[in-house]
Amino acid sequence: MFERILFATDFSEPNLKILDFLPEFKEIGTEEVVVVRVINLNRIIGAAGGINIDEYIEECRREAESKLAEIVSRIDSFGLKAKPIVPVPAGDPVNEIIKAAKENGAKLILMGSRGRGIIKEILLGSVSEGVARMSDIPVMVIKHKTKVKRLFERILYAHDLTEHSERVMKYVKFIAEKLGSEIILVHVVEKEEKLAEEKLKIVEEELLGLNFKTIVRYGTPHKEILKVCKEESATSIFIGGGIPETVTEKLLGSTADVILRYSKIPVFIAKS
Ligand code: AMP
Repeated sequence: MFERILFATDFSEPNLKILDFLPEFKEIGTEEVVVVRVINLNRIIGAAGGINIDEYIEECRREAESKLAEIVSRIDSFGLKAKPIVPVPAGDPVNEIIKAAKENGAKLILMGSRGRGIIKEILLGSVSEGVARMSDIPVMVIKHKTKVKRLFERILYAHDLTEHSERVMKYVKFIAEKLGSEIILVHVVEKEEKLAEEKLKIVEEELLGLNFKTIVRYGTPHKEILKVCKEESATSIFIGGGIPETVTEKLLGSTADVILRYSKIPVFIAKS
């Protein structure tokens, strides 16, 4: 299921710390890691006067290729195959990361997040949010400051009882079966709604035989999910990616967007 994954790197030290999680991916069957670095052309747009873009790209490429070689040897040292994307693509990081994942048959995009506030994200643009929103391939985002040591020890599976979250089931089960992870199934009943007991029971039946417990909360989904996350010391959150529907969601992003922005622990988002 995760035989080949794509790792997106900005070469920052906290981003490269993500490589320490690769042995855990090996345990769930990862064999090959494709590494992509994008020369961010968004940054030089506007400052292009006086710059020879071709020369700039060439210089960035030379620099990037030697850093990629170092990353490749670290991945090798974990006993995993590594493939850098060369020549290093230049363009918009979000588009190029998604393109590289598709072209190389990656089953998951693994990336970091600098985790800034909403205002800065709107001003500077968040690469991880962009990828999580646009990618059809599952994405795992690890905040640069995360304190988590193992990703899949205690999985918080947020389920809204719709097919969006149901699509994540196969990943949760696959990982939990391999690693014996604890699963915390969380369902939040929103204002003026009633708990759909029958639907919840069907979801629980799919998890039978695994180490899981169910927590039902009442309130705003992202707030309650993040609260449970803390209370239960979850080590990652699994959610379905959705398209913003309500007015609030359109302004602030879907529940998945908000969780991704505020979660301190790694977030796995899948749309398919
Ligand atoms: P964010 O803080 O949301 O902008 O996301 C930062 C993460 O996006 C980094 O940890 C990388 O995984 C990825 N990223 C950002 N810029 C690049 C880039 N130029 N090339 C490849 N990945 C990048």
